[in-house]
Amino acid sequence: MYQLIDGKATSAQIKEEIAEEVKQFVKQGGKIPHLAAILVGHDGASETYVASKERSCQQVGFNSTIIRLEDSITEAELLKKVEEINKNVDIDGLIVQLPLPDHINEQKVIEAVLPEKDVDGFHPVNVGRMVIGLPAFISATPAGILELFKRYNIKTSGKSCVVIGRSNIVGKPMGILLSRKSEYGNATVTLCHSRTPNIKEVCLNADIVIAALGKAEFLTGDMVKEGAVVIDVGITRVKSDKTKSGWKLLGDVKFDEVAPKCSYITPVPGGVGPMTIVSLLKNTLLASKEK
Ligand code: NAP
Repeated sequence: MYQLIDGKATSAQIKEEIAEEVKQFVKQGGKIPHLAAILVGHDGASETYVASKERSCQQVGFNSTIIRLEDSITEAELLKKVEEINKNVDIDGLIVQLPLPDHINEQKVIEAVLPEKDVDGFHPVNVGRMVIGLPAFISATPAGILELFKRYNIKTSGKSCVVIGRSNIVGKPMGILLSRKSEYGNATVTLCHSRTPNIKEVCLNADIVIAALGKAEFLTGDMVKEGAVVIDVGITRVKSDKTKSGWKLLGDVKFDEVAPKCSYITPVPGGVGPMTIVSLLKNTLLASKEK
């Protein structure tokens, strides 16, 4: 029988811990942590994510600011806005919600954020520091997954791990973190992507599979071995006539087939998603304290 990894409950617990830490920090004369988010345009999913981040800030006692900009904004204007926030001493963390409109170079914007305020952990300085094991802001989704491993006492040392997806924000940092010489590292990692020819065989040998490719229900029951730990990062919105909203979320894992073979598995929704947000909160608290 598999155990469900409950990201919703775990994140609620961590939020309580953060709220308590904030209280103590402020009591001792510290400043209330402040997270700013830049939202360009009106993409539905981005609106939802930013609103959820704002709600989470309120829950833990942070200040938060959403800077809404029209998608007609030029790259230069956006970079100027980032610069303004970099200089604002009251703001500890800045996130720029991705994706950005096509006429804006995302990498340029990521690199414009001060590394000390880059609580998303996307800036090359933070990525580089993470790679060589120095203290850094770690990309929120992989950090959230490691936190789930800790909270559920899932050992990675000596295990064979497969990460499907090599994006800069999820797959690549996840692979690096799992192979680091540290307690929740020390795994032997295989990083798969769209050019990997034999994903099924690779996954069948894995103790831990992390699916982060964004293809709904890609990982099927015949692709995992008995007793595997499966972490589902994917979020795909599909139309549904069974929900009030008219759509539902699917993960990258075909849950009903895969779960019976697993020792541990995350659901979608309620698995990795809520943990991503608490990692962001943790990074913001750290940014605030380090100042
Ligand atoms: P991304 O930038 O689109 O990257 C997808 C990766 O998957 C790429 O490396 C791609 O390979 C690989 N891929 C695509 N199709 C594949 C296939 N058929 N077989 C093997 N590999 C394949 O995606 P992302 O930003 O990492 O996000 C991945 C998913 O996670 C999305 O559904 C996203 O919504 C979700 N997500 C969830 C959270 C959360 O908090 N739960 C956070 C971030 C992202 P190539 O490099 O060869 O193109």
